[in-house]
Amino acid sequence: MTTTYKSTDPYLEARGDFVLAKIAMIGDPNAEDMTYEALIEAQVLGYRDASVAHETGEDIECSPFFADVPELKREWLDGWSRHDEMAEMAECSGCNNSRGDPCPIHG
Ligand SMILES: [Zn+2]
Repeated sequence: MTTTYKSTDPYLEARGDFVLAKIAMIGDPNAEDMTYEALIEAQVLGYRDASVAHETGEDIECSPFFADVPELKREWLDGWSRHDEMAEMAECSGCNNSRGDPCPIHG
């Protein structure tokens, strides 16, 4: 275990970005809301984790760095369900027809 100031934990990174963006808004009420960057990152991680879970059968829980921040947790879960939806469509015969359009359920 090495001690570095730069985190290599992507969840901690996103959490840090989120907190800093919030603090920036406290300092300047007219500042642009930059939290969306961290929220996108959380969603990407959720999507990625779902894909790993899908491939390995591993059970992946929400990182504690997201679990106590409702916005980050919501985006992470959203990324997860986006992946599940994609995976479902990939396996759905109705979606994999000759037209290439999603079936009525997934369309
Ligand atoms: Zn379908």
